[in-house]
Amino acid sequence: MPELKYKRIVLKISGEGLRRDSGFGIDADELKRVGAEIKSVHDLGGEVAVVVGGGNIVRGSQIAVHAQIEEATGHYMGMLATIINALAIQDTLESIGVPTRVQSAVNVDRVCEKFIRRRAMRHLEKGRVVIFAAGTGNPFVTTDTGAALRASEINANAVLKATKVDGVYDSDPVKNPEAKRYTHLSYNEVINSRLEVMDVSAIDLCQRNNIPIIVFNLRTPNGMCDVVCGKPIGTLVDSNA
Ligand code: UDP
Repeated sequence: MPELKYKRIVLKISGEGLRRDSGFGIDADELKRVGAEIKSVHDLGGEVAVVVGGGNIVRGSQIAVHAQIEEATGHYMGMLATIINALAIQDTLESIGVPTRVQSAVNVDRVCEKFIRRRAMRHLEKGRVVIFAAGTGNPFVTTDTGAALRASEINANAVLKATKVDGVYDSDPVKNPEAKRYTHLSYNEVINSRLEVMDVSAIDLCQRNNIPIIVFNLRTPNGMCDVVCGKPIGTLVDSNA
């Protein structure tokens, strides 16, 4: 088995990672693909925690405007959406033989555990994939901040931020074919250049706890394994750039 550069990781998947390009909700093929990637890291002996978003179902600020409801209510709806996604990932992983637990920052006793830091770490030590749902449990932030928070709490070695493109670019590579990909950036470069990697609060938390962030394309076959093995794919964000 290859030596893992990052043994305990937090994988941040946005809700978009579970749906087809412009669709809504959850797509079975995308879900299976994500499950298979997580399983391959688990099979290498990686301790995997997943923080899943909810943007494929509800984004708090958008639904609040559309439905003419209070913004805070919209954010709670967004958090509930992440629980829906977490259950889908749980079932998919268990169907391929990966033991899991879902821990939610908003208590939903009938469907999952509540977030308990020490219990989450114990699950990881026992080889279970832990799926963290409901972000931070607080409105007005996103699951990126949830990922940085959980990574800090469980002493993760890295945050893997899965995106639709293979790293951080100086402009949108979908719109600009000349866009240049960065291979290595510092936390300060990301914050000062306003590169849209993750929320500033998420970058700040990772910087304070010295947790590297690797931005990579979840659709690259075996991409997650390559990242945990330290292969130079995607963009690395840390203090050494
Ligand atoms: N959300 C929140 N607090 C959190 C995490 C998420 O209020 O700690 C809400 C927020 O409204 C957000 C929605 O949940 O828009 C879905 O999360 P996110 O936008 O991070 O999902 P993604 O874009 O990653 O799919």
